[in-house]
Amino acid sequence: MIEAWCFGGFQAPREKTPYIVLGAPLDATATYRPGTRFGPQAIREASRNIEFYSFRSGVDMDDVGFHDLGDACIPENVKEALLTIEVTTKTSWRPGDVLIMLGGEHTVSRAAIEALRPDKVVVFDAHLDLRDEYLGSKDNHACTVRRLVESLGSENILLVGVRACCREEVEYAKQSGVKYITSYDVERMGVRETVKVIENFLREASRTYISIDLDVLDPAYAPGVGNPEPEGLTTMQLIDILAGITKENLVGVDVVELCPPYDNGSTAVAAAKIIVEVCAAHYVAISSR
Ligand code: MN
Ligand code: MN
Repeated sequence: MIEAWCFGGFQAPREKTPYIVLGAPLDATATYRPGTRFGPQAIREASRNIEFYSFRSGVDMDDVGFHDLGDACIPENVKEALLTIEVTTKTSWRPGDVLIMLGGEHTVSRAAIEALRPDKVVVFDAHLDLRDEYLGSKDNHACTVRRLVESLGSENILLVGVRACCREEVEYAKQSGVKYITSYDVERMGVRETVKVIENFLREASRTYISIDLDVLDPAYAPGVGNPEPEGLTTMQLIDILAGITKENLVGVDVVELCPPYDNGSTAVAAAKIIVEVCAAHYVAISSR
């Protein structure tokens, strides 16, 4: 049955697919261009207009399907919103599932990670997001990775694709030991070497979580984000890396910071495609067990 509102336009029965989709349209702390509240619906709409067969993985995601839970209810207060997303995730996710969270601003990743308690997190982002606070708030989206470091430990976080930060953030990264791979490193090493470095970081992980701030992509590929930053990854570099590092221990992935008012449609389609390819790579991993 075609269900126009959900991811892929087709609602797979809950017990038939490990891929559960949850929208988290929090848009409270944008500092430059707000609009991420419209992200989940734009990704769903884009998903209904692309092919679900993955050439890369040889998996037809139309056969596997997604179970879309809809959007988490978002109260105005950021702390309450994060708690709502966390509780929704906790009550929905079951062992073997992969949570697919559609943002919303980057802050929402904290709620999913709090609920799923991964032991290693890979964050794709143009920015370090390591500020202790921004505009008087510790819950600003510019502080997301700092909060993750405090909650999971710096040794369990790896940032990929970074190229923009303030001095406070670099100093904190050095002093706390947060590891990062810049977009220049990715360009220099190439996809294959980058995958190896990330695989090495994930070597002993039993629960992996991947957070994708869409501004990791170059604005040429993804103009529809709140804080565009030049010198980013290409969509192909990003998806090749994601497909390379996705293993059966993936517990969740989020795609955040899509800002539809500034999009020409490309960013939303990239977001949907990223989800299809990550899930296809994961499906190959669990099918070859
Ligand atoms: Mn971010
Ligand atoms: Mn960012």
